[in-house]
Amino acid sequence: MKQLSPKNYLSETARSIKPSGIRRFFDLANEMEGVISLGVGEPDFVTSWNICEAAYASMESGYTSYSANAGLLELRQEISAYLQQQFQLEYDAEKEIIVTTGASQAIDLAFRALVDPGDEVLIAEPGFVAYAPIVQLAGGIPVPVPTTADNHFKLTAEQLDSYVNEKTKLVLLCFPNNPTGATLKREELDKLAAVIRRHDLLVLSDEIYAELSYDQSHCSIAALPEMAERTVVISGFSKAFAMTGWRLGYLAGPASLLQAMLKIHQYTMMCAPTIAQHGALEALRNGREDVDKMVASYRRRRNYFVKASNRIGLPCHMPGGAFYAFPSIRDTGLTSEQFAEQLLQEERVAVVPGSVFGAGGEGHVRCSYAASMEALQTAIERIGRFVEKRL
Ligand code: PLP
Repeated sequence: MKQLSPKNYLSETARSIKPSGIRRFFDLANEMEGVISLGVGEPDFVTSWNICEAAYASMESGYTSYSANAGLLELRQEISAYLQQQFQLEYDAEKEIIVTTGASQAIDLAFRALVDPGDEVLIAEPGFVAYAPIVQLAGGIPVPVPTTADNHFKLTAEQLDSYVNEKTKLVLLCFPNNPTGATLKREELDKLAAVIRRHDLLVLSDEIYAELSYDQSHCSIAALPEMAERTVVISGFSKAFAMTGWRLGYLAGPASLLQAMLKIHQYTMMCAPTIAQHGALEALRNGREDVDKMVASYRRRRNYFVKASNRIGLPCHMPGGAFYAFPSIRDTGLTSEQFAEQLLQEERVAVVPGSVFGAGGEGHVRCSYAASMEALQTAIERIGRFVEKRL
């Protein structure tokens, strides 16, 4: 088909957004045979059978129409009870929870409702690839706040404080972190919270990996004194419940903010998929044992992979959460992009260059250890051979 010139027809905002660097590597890896992929950011488990059955049953019972805009009330009540039980968070199911199409849509709704053109949003970097483009789509200015390997990629209060100015509106926190696996302890969050309160900022806390915390239980910043009223929590079912394809997430926060997000949700999405919501109900009611088993399995694989990575010459801190290792590749003399590309071509292992997660990710690669133990062992052998030639 003849193509119109993007310059004449596409919006400036759409043109200014770069395609995700992760996708490029998936596409390359997909075209090759015998590739071990440590590139994807999703569980290697399939969704538990009882959850699938609940979704089938909902179809058989004729639940094939829209749900309430904010999601099935029953599901919001379960989410409210779950957040209370797991993280000591109190949300009113009627007004303070919205079920969304993945955490991705929750992030989009939150930024659209909270960001005015010119507002600055502080984002710990390296960070999830979607944040900065979504801030830009909302007209805001993403401001990266670097975190570093020496500090295990934790965001500190001093760093955060030094990036605040009169345009700063919002702080995006994501702990456990994608791509670094960094987690924050309650004392560390307390210090960040003090800065956030002092400057009267809002927080968007992406806690999608909360359940995948291996060394201590997850603490939400919204549970700290005087933080619930200025925090919107984002989470979902993709990671802990192995439900990425179901596209189900949620927002929890003060009604005054959430009701504005609900307006946008009504016009842009109507509601999250009803059948998936029935699956999620089952996940929250009867999924605990399976989540615990998956977490134990990720922990074993993390311990193996991080130790092995250090042994083969790629220094790697022990990530406290998520399912990513973020080893340094600096000693090889390659950029993260060169490393990932050459490793794929020579040894058929796909990892993601750290630079796609922001400039602060350069010098590292993201390896997802949500792969079978056998695949991880073979990957380590291959990466070891690749690294040995360059050290
Ligand atoms: N937030 C983070 C930090 C993620 O890593 C991801 C997915 O990789 C998402 C949000 C999006 O999750 P969902 O599949 O629920 O849209």
